[in-house]
Amino acid sequence: MNLYQKKVNQYPDTETCLICEKQKALGIHLYHSFICLDCEMDIINTKTNDQKYQFYVRRLKQVQISEKRRQA
Ligand SMILES: [Zn+2]
Repeated sequence: MNLYQKKVNQYPDTETCLICEKQKALGIHLYHSFICLDCEMDIINTKTNDQKYQFYVRRLKQVQISEKRRQA
């Protein structure tokens, strides 16, 4: 692990983004997951017929599935 990575992980206001899996400070919470601002904007700007959109949808569905399991 390099020094930069360590520093980022220790920074208290960052969370791991569900989509890009990077440590980010700004973003939204969806259920118990976190989506960074960059990915949120990307999702909004991605057309539904874009292949990337399917990737995002799959990721978001995983959140909902794990949330249902948690409640069960
Ligand atoms: Zn992200």
